[in-house]
Amino acid sequence: MEWEIIKENSKDYWLELKGWDGGEKYPFGELDKRTKIYSVHIACKWDGCIDYRTYSNGYSYDHECDDDCPCCQDYIHICDIDEFIKDLQQLKKVAIQYYKGKSGEEYWKEEQNV
Ligand SMILES: [Zn+2]
Repeated sequence: MEWEIIKENSKDYWLELKGWDGGEKYPFGELDKRTKIYSVHIACKWDGCIDYRTYSNGYSYDHECDDDCPCCQDYIHICDIDEFIKDLQQLKKVAIQYYKGKSGEEYWKEEQNV
């Protein structure tokens, strides 16, 4: 993920970022008019909490959103990023152990050092 600070929304107590995972959109057949799809929108607050929002179906963070929007917005509130990372690493270990010798094993393995 490539993170960009949204300067116009950030303040001393509020850091706002958009995340780009490589997704792009462009009018059909017009590769020169492509734009990045920022599918992640983050607020890192002064108190250590993080609001983490993701958007699917080719929607960028700044689209007009309403109740009928097909962007499938997901939201996670993270109070302690270190604890959250540890929890995910533990979760991964459990899943790797579980899928050993089962179908899906190839997706659940320790990250290879490049
Ligand atoms: Zn939406």
